[in-house]
Amino acid sequence: MAITFAAVRKSVESILRQPLELTKVAEIKALLPDLVKFAYIPANDLQVQMAAQDRDGAPDIYASSSTHTLDDEEHVLVLEFLEGSLSTSLSTLRNQSQWSLTYAPSLTPEAMRKLVEKRNERFVQAVDELLGAVPEDEDPVALLMNAARDHVPVDPMAPQPDMGDNHQFILPSQTRRTVEEILDDLVEQDWYKNQIVARKIYEPKEATLGELTLSNTIWAAVKAARKISSLYSHQAAAIKAVQTGKNVIVSTPTASGKSIVYQVPVLEFLEENIESTALFVYPTKALAQDQKQAMEQLLFSCTGLENVKVATYDGDTPADQRRGIRDNASIVFANFDMVHTAILPHEDIWRRFLKNLKVVAVDELHYYTGLYGSHVAQVIRRLRRVCAAVGNRRIRFVSCSATISNPLGHMKNLFGIDDIEVITADGAPSGRKDFVIFNPPPKDGYHTHDKFMPYPAKHVSIRGIEEERYAVVDVTGLARGGQARILEEIEYSRAIFETYEGAVFLHQGQTFVVTEVSHDTRVARMTRADVNYTTSPRDFTNADAAQTSRIREVRGSPHRAFFGRVTLHTVVFGFFKLRNGQILESVSLETPPFDRETTGFWLDVPKNILGLMNEKNIHPAEAIHSASHALMNRFPMAQDLKTECKVAVKEYRPVETNRKRPARLIFYDGAGPGGGPASSAFDHISDLVHSAYEVVESCECKEGCIKCIHSPSCKESNEVSSKIGALLVLRGLLGLAIESDNVPDLSDEGRFPETIVVADVVDVVSNIEVESS
Ligand SMILES: [Zn+2]
Ligand SMILES: [Zn+2]
Repeated sequence: MAITFAAVRKSVESILRQPLELTKVAEIKALLPDLVKFAYIPANDLQVQMAAQDRDGAPDIYASSSTHTLDDEEHVLVLEFLEGSLSTSLSTLRNQSQWSLTYAPSLTPEAMRKLVEKRNERFVQAVDELLGAVPEDEDPVALLMNAARDHVPVDPMAPQPDMGDNHQFILPSQTRRTVEEILDDLVEQDWYKNQIVARKIYEPKEATLGELTLSNTIWAAVKAARKISSLYSHQAAAIKAVQTGKNVIVSTPTASGKSIVYQVPVLEFLEENIESTALFVYPTKALAQDQKQAMEQLLFSCTGLENVKVATYDGDTPADQRRGIRDNASIVFANFDMVHTAILPHEDIWRRFLKNLKVVAVDELHYYTGLYGSHVAQVIRRLRRVCAAVGNRRIRFVSCSATISNPLGHMKNLFGIDDIEVITADGAPSGRKDFVIFNPPPKDGYHTHDKFMPYPAKHVSIRGIEEERYAVVDVTGLARGGQARILEEIEYSRAIFETYEGAVFLHQGQTFVVTEVSHDTRVARMTRADVNYTTSPRDFTNADAAQTSRIREVRGSPHRAFFGRVTLHTVVFGFFKLRNGQILESVSLETPPFDRETTGFWLDVPKNILGLMNEKNIHPAEAIHSASHALMNRFPMAQDLKTECKVAVKEYRPVETNRKRPARLIFYDGAGPGGGPASSAFDHISDLVHSAYEVVESCECKEGCIKCIHSPSCKESNEVSSKIGALLVLRGLLGLAIESDNVPDLSDEGRFPETIVVADVVDVVSNIEVESS
């Protein structure tokens, strides 16, 4: 039986006569992870327990400190000793040490003493174990405090920052280390080699409030629904601009409370004329859903506007409800696809709505860029024309975006309008921010600094209009008779790396575990879970040369380099469960492949070199992988260039694999076709190969290092690598003579299965001339 932390804290503090901090309890949890439960649980679960307690007449130690009613989502912090399911009372608590918090009042004093002794013993044992395990030069207390940080529970339902609140979780200051201390520590580490390349500090900032005239009813509604009594300067300025007939773009950091800048003007228009309508557009259904609730709350708190109808109009809206929405809704929540396909072509049935349309609010404006952005720009122009045709030329466009470089230009381009007030001065308060840019070190083996390794595939942006999107659905509520809810929609390129079954998924600071993924319906289901590990997908990407459009000589060599279309085929074959960079478990998966196209270039390993490597038992996969990284290390824009990183589990599998790869060094534009660095690297291919060879040849390391064949951005931590192999491949590409007798024979290192075969000829577009080097 769990006990709320509030109750524990009160009684313990009365014994200790000093504050009991969360971090102290977290240290106990860190010492005895299996014995102590210290977590937020749904308040509803606790209420059941409270009810049971009341019937038994046991003292009410579960009373919530606040008097408001517990809603569905609320979580309470509990502390529980797991051995035995015993409860306690305040009177017994007062007589016990802090290690024995949860005793049943029904226990005899003798049984109680035994339990106390047992737990004390277990605690002493854990401390001894810790002291025994800590090397002499390390401080066990610091170690424990460090470990405890992972055990400080976080309230999953703590207010979201975008409500304009500032309730971020902060550790008590006396135990929280300063950034200075953490950085000082970091640079002392053995592995630290100037990875911190830049740092910028933003000083804390007080809130700047703004003045604004609003009707009493609207002020009262804002106060009641948002629990605020004043507006930040950027909010007030934006609303004022709409009041004076202007269009507005607010581009301030997230968490600065932007939605109010279009919500309040809509209330004003409705107060003035109850026939007024508004259109709110969001890039995702999940966002629209959240914002619809917020708007409903505001309307409900606004005297006279309680009955204003708000509706979502998207692909999921049932056909039998659509007419009612068109005829009666005052505020419609939609996305641009819906405006394009369902509203604009049917101006006649939407006439009431379009004639009375006062505000078009477009949130997350930064989302609409590239091809999708230009599509949206056309939709907005048509919307303005259609409204003008029914006599409505006075629509105010209000948009919000995260901080972007040219908000005015972006809004002008997208909306085709002038008379825009740009608001970028953020009035919301903020704490000191300290940005440190950390250039990640290579990972040696499995057990080091995983947390610093970026996951490169995640940064590959390939979103086009047509890309499939997956719904991320929280089904936690279903078990309690509640409802599933859509958390967000994500592109397939993200979904495969983040929503495989078993993945730990983060959504607005809450942790979920994915329970089921349907690729047919594109739904990933997950439940709320407080787990103390993270997951990291394992994948391989085949990069295949599909068509040659440029051919270039390599200086001094009979061999050539090729440029053209490259197809990418990514498979997530499993994942790691990780805690503090340590692998707890490796799980296999079967997921459908993710295919896409880009541009790139390649160099084929000459046949005789491949033959020589096989003869000398030098693994061609190691050689090609290392030669590829050696070449990329010579190219200044290498971070946007990708290569086919060789995966240890594939290359060193004891059994023969079906996945045979061509003997080819291939490089491609990670961000998608065209405009990438691949073509400029190709322009300098001769220099790159020559200089890669010279560097590897002259490098004094034995097995390969960061200066020659290792890459800090290697997706597979340079595990598959060979310096001698890289040298052979590079010499071969340059057409330099190789004396077979001088090449070491590695046959006594054990045979490897064949994974690399002679590269096939790639289709060439007609009429191309070979470019000279
Ligand atoms: Zn080296
Ligand atoms: Zn690599």
